[in-house]
Amino acid sequence: MKVSIIPEKCIACGLCQTYSNQFDYYDNGIVKFSNSDKLEQNLSDNQANLLAVKSCPTKALRIDS
Ligand code: SF4
Repeated sequence: MKVSIIPEKCIACGLCQTYSNQFDYYDNGIVKFSNSDKLEQNLSDNQANLLAVKSCPTKALRIDS
């Protein structure tokens, strides 16, 4: 599945990484992908990634396809 990050919506709560290590944070706490600074990435649609995306309180993570 294609996942997008919308950094301006991220409130640096730290929740997504507790579900999936595909997510990491910049020094200011704003979310990024662990292995890339891009805003869009293909991730496997496993439960951890789905939970991470769906649990984001501000919808800063989005499944595009
Ligand atoms: S769960 Fe959402 S708001 Fe919280 S750090 Fe992750 S992307 Fe940002």
